[in-house]
Amino acid sequence: MKNELNHKLIQIKNLKKYYPVTAGLFSRHIGDIKAVDGVTFDISEREIIGLVGESGCGKSTLGKTIPRLEEPTSGEILYRGTDITKLDKKGLRELRGEIQIIFQDPDASLDPRMTVGDSICEPLVIHNIDNEKKRMDRVAELMEQVGLEARQADLYPHEFSGGQKQRIGIARALALNPKLIIADEPVSALDVSIQAQILNLMMDIQEKFGLAYLLIAHDLSVIRHMAHRVAIMYLGKIVELANKQELFENPLHPYTEALLSAVPSFKSKGKGRILLRGDVPSPLNPPSGCHFHPRCHRVLHICSKEEPLLTEMAQDHFVACHLYR
Ligand code: ATP
Ligand code: SF4
Ligand code: MG
Repeated sequence: MKNELNHKLIQIKNLKKYYPVTAGLFSRHIGDIKAVDGVTFDISEREIIGLVGESGCGKSTLGKTIPRLEEPTSGEILYRGTDITKLDKKGLRELRGEIQIIFQDPDASLDPRMTVGDSICEPLVIHNIDNEKKRMDRVAELMEQVGLEARQADLYPHEFSGGQKQRIGIARALALNPKLIIADEPVSALDVSIQAQILNLMMDIQEKFGLAYLLIAHDLSVIRHMAHRVAIMYLGKIVELANKQELFENPLHPYTEALLSAVPSFKSKGKGRILLRGDVPSPLNPPSGCHFHPRCHRVLHICSKEEPLLTEMAQDHFVACHLYR
């Protein structure tokens, strides 16, 4: 696996996405919601990276900023060496075929007034690919690849179950032969009984088409099942990044320890449950120093004063925590 993963598909460098907050009659700028605040990591060809963190940590914003569905505030996003942040409209349109997003709610990517065949075909039409006959053949092929029948192309989204709609969303995402799929909680809106089927479909497709995934999921079992590497995100920053086995067996960051300890089947170094105190603070006003310090069970004196930087502590195991200075 390692050799296959050597070629970098995407390199993200110090990426930030701030949402300005204004107040008063004159819309005075009073601060920024730092949804993504200096994120650096890469994704190799055919690699599945799991992205984990509590609600509001910035996972979806990061996922949307990579293909510039959200405009980054600063930083670089190199796709096979080309900086996405510097592309003009035309360049961006070409690149959007290479990077696709699958959302949690399959209805979000399907127009209820369009047949599912037309929805799957739409990216081909927008990019002016093939004639109509070839497009219809391609739609039939895509539907079969995701486990649907080609004759269902004339039906409307409401005639499908949630799982089938997510299959349609996946078919649509595959239409332009992407290299990277950003899957934002792709199964969390589905019945538990259906989730495994969709995840297995995603695994098959990844293998068959040599795709890379940025897989956003709050369910650590999903991440453990699918990912090669795992990134843990807290208040706009990646606080730990390692290959899956290393991260699950030897978590270093106290936040990772707490997340893992909440799942009974992942015993973190034989320790008991570590309760996370309180909620994630607002990214408008994050705590000083290490953003995690008010909730950390291993907090040190320095933690509220100095921000720990993401540092490689063991081979390919990065952590941002003063415990390992
Ligand atoms: P969840 O697990 O609930 O999906 P998340 O990790 O995906 O959470 P985001 O949706 O990326 O988190 O949000 C990160 C932060 O950015 C939150 O505080 C959110 O309120 C804020 N945010 C997201 N989108 C916007 C926006 N368009 N304008 C202002 N703030 C936003
Ligand atoms: Fe906890 Fe300090 Fe490490 Fe932050 S830097 S996770 S507060 S020990
Ligand atoms: Mg989200």
